[in-house]
Amino acid sequence: MALQRPKGTQDHLPDGSPKLSRDVQASAFAFVQDTARRVLERAGAQFIGTPLFEEAELVRRGVGGSTDIVRKEMFTVYYFGDHGGYVLRPEGTASIVRAYLQNGLKQLPAPLKLWTHGPMFRAENVQKGRLRQFHQVDYEVLGSTDPLVDAEAIWLMWAVVRELGLTGVRVKLGSIGDPEDREAYNSYLRELFTPHEGRLSDDSKDRLTRNPMRILDSKSAEDQALIRELNVNPMLDFLGEAARAHFAAVQAHLTAWGVPFDLDPSIVRGLDYYRRTAWELHHTQVGAKSALGGGGRYDGLAAQLGGPEVPGIGWAFGIERLLLALEAEGVALPGQAGPLLFLAALDEENVGLAARLALQGRAVARVEFAYRALKPGNAFKEADRRRARYAAVIGSNEAARGVLNVKNLASGEQREVPLEALKTFLEQAELEQA
Ligand code: AMP
Repeated sequence: MALQRPKGTQDHLPDGSPKLSRDVQASAFAFVQDTARRVLERAGAQFIGTPLFEEAELVRRGVGGSTDIVRKEMFTVYYFGDHGGYVLRPEGTASIVRAYLQNGLKQLPAPLKLWTHGPMFRAENVQKGRLRQFHQVDYEVLGSTDPLVDAEAIWLMWAVVRELGLTGVRVKLGSIGDPEDREAYNSYLRELFTPHEGRLSDDSKDRLTRNPMRILDSKSAEDQALIRELNVNPMLDFLGEAARAHFAAVQAHLTAWGVPFDLDPSIVRGLDYYRRTAWELHHTQVGAKSALGGGGRYDGLAAQLGGPEVPGIGWAFGIERLLLALEAEGVALPGQAGPLLFLAALDEENVGLAARLALQGRAVARVEFAYRALKPGNAFKEADRRRARYAAVIGSNEAARGVLNVKNLASGEQREVPLEALKTFLEQAELEQA
């Protein structure tokens, strides 16, 4: 058997490939990316690119040494040399905040809105919707604590799913308060869980001393059963006055803008640098891996990476998850369009001329050509197969008169276009299409 791609990865394939499903169709991917780009650029977000690999220390501090991602799911890159090791980035936020600090982006007008997209890597147990190389669209805003920024960030996620044509999406919204609120909550949880420590998973026993909030986030079934049994009070009950007012403002904006949301006290972000607003978008039909994306405020992160205090907030969508949701809802997606014109010579002497005309036409539109002479019927058939809008043929007769014989493949109408008018013809056809 020929060699296979690694487990948990996907090839992105051209339209018409035999084994096509949406989550591996390159044009479907591009559609999701372009939709997100349009929504985010209209909001003033600028693109930022960062390396696919980073210092392990950045990811340890940026994602958190106690998280599953850092403890179990890092792809480490070794190479000859005495360097301690790089890791393939598991998410985008740490890199973007690093780039912000390293490149002095603080000098740009605040709040600074940045976005990116690209592959992320986590060595996870592979299942549907959970890959080892997956792709995110990422939006980050640096330099503001204003609740209006939080609400706008959530609205933008909502705008992306709406623009994609998805309807079965719910926003789950929570707040994890300020550090002192979380401390109070952690003390409460420690008191509550300690008498039942024996029933906790090993990971959660460890969390009980280090960071009890993360128990609530546990994937273990025994932990979740105990959590239900103990009727744990939600973090929202522990918000201090400032965090409570901030959260109320975020909700008021969303309500005023018509973004429906459910309060979800179970959203926890246990790490120190997270503050206040946290949310997730879920799809009603995608099953267990229903989270399409999530986000939160991380005002303590820049300092955690060794920089000054810079407030920030951001979110990430999983592109594969969005594609699963689009599939589940049966939303029709545009495939890649065919060429505007397909050009063929009717005899070998004119193959080079047809090619030259096609190359010139590319200044205006997508134009393809045949690499050998074709009979008129075959030329039109070939053009059809490529989903061209027009087909043009040129033989010795047409070449002598300086014209192309052009056929509109939808209407069947045929006419002659002088060679020197080809550019104008393409420009007009392009306008009609738009
Ligand atoms: P996170 O960075 O963990 O908050 O994830 C943000 C979003 O990325 C999730 O809601 C998923 O849509 C997506 N995602 C995270 N991990 C994976 C994965 N292993 N495979 C596919 N999508 C993922």
